[in-house]
Amino acid sequence: MTSFSKPLASGPQIQLIPGPSILPDRVRAAMHCASIDIYSGPLLDVTARCEAGLRGVFETSEPVFLYAANGHGAWDAALSNTLCRGEKILVLQSGRFAVGWGEMASAMGLQVEILSADWHSAVNPEALSERLKADKAHTIRAILCVQVDTASGVSNDVGELRQAIDVVGHPALLMVDAVASLGTMPFEFQKWGVDVAVSASQKGLMSAPGLGFVAASQRALEAHKCADLRTRYWDWSTRNGTNHYQKYCGTPPEQLLFGLAEAFDMMAEEGLSTIFKRHELLKQATQSAISSWHDVGAIANIPVQKNQASSVSVFNLPDGLAGKVISFCRENCGVTLGGGLGRWSGKSIRIGHMGHINAPTLLGAIGCIDLALNVLGLDPSQYGAAAAVRALGRGGEDPDET
Ligand SMILES: *Cc1c(COP(=O)(O)O)cnc(C)c1O
Repeated sequence: MTSFSKPLASGPQIQLIPGPSILPDRVRAAMHCASIDIYSGPLLDVTARCEAGLRGVFETSEPVFLYAANGHGAWDAALSNTLCRGEKILVLQSGRFAVGWGEMASAMGLQVEILSADWHSAVNPEALSERLKADKAHTIRAILCVQVDTASGVSNDVGELRQAIDVVGHPALLMVDAVASLGTMPFEFQKWGVDVAVSASQKGLMSAPGLGFVAASQRALEAHKCADLRTRYWDWSTRNGTNHYQKYCGTPPEQLLFGLAEAFDMMAEEGLSTIFKRHELLKQATQSAISSWHDVGAIANIPVQKNQASSVSVFNLPDGLAGKVISFCRENCGVTLGGGLGRWSGKSIRIGHMGHINAPTLLGAIGCIDLALNVLGLDPSQYGAAAAVRALGRGGEDPDET
């Protein structure tokens, strides 16, 4: 692609795609263990630690379920446990992922309606209220949305969406995908009144891919009783049985559980509020860098700060530049960035800043994008790393307010 060939790529390889995120050494070390008895002993303890950790990040005291599955599996688990064939659900679009969940629902025999929206802003709560008000017969049984969409970089305000449902007194279950956000920003399952939340291990929870999670409310457990999409593997009733073995419907993914429990220990040591603040700062640094690239044509995807995800930032570049920057960073700097998804395939860059990531990791990656722009002959009047440094120096204060 370019004639640049300087020996800069060796050393720690940095992966800043929006999942799987960077695995901490402690998590890797915790997974380096022998397989153990699946009926007793340390396994029971590690399950309890993982369940407690999940209740902590979901902010719920209600049941949580752990699956040997990825986020897609957790999607399947959420739907099959609560709904009946032919029932109608409403999907709130704010990017690619809620729609993807809806496609899965449709393949399972549910009727799917999409409340469409663009990729630049959060779901509009008023549009949701309007749509629900028109559903006088309450045929819509569930509402699916994401907290953070990793294709668009949108962050939705789940509490506001709940209020939009309550204002019109609609009984639909609220189901939220927190795969890309859990552990990077607050999730208040009980306070917000979420009915089903899904997540996975490999993003904000800085663990290896392969574990899917579902949290369920009492209303969801009630709906579960007559859900006819239930299948044995996902089924909450079987998993709630008295034998520990039933929790996993078979052999537990032991090493993954040890890794996850270690990640929760690390999170407890840092403290959730510090973790959320760190993500907020890294997001602001990234967004500042993106703004500084505007004279090479970079356009931040989400103009309104409140709607920008804490865990991933997405921006568009003109004329095939995104692909060139991504290749340059990978080949010459050892930095892997995410490319555009769906309608933005080839047009955008996605920087994941979730989980085990700090200032030097992020500033290094932003500096490598600067280097790519420089080598490609585009010399932005302000470099992203400089802008990111200024943002971190301000410590997250809004410059307009100081
Ligand atoms: C990554 C992601 C998923 C899918 O998770 P997998 O583990 O890849 O199946 C679902 N939703 C969102 C918002 C995601 O970012």
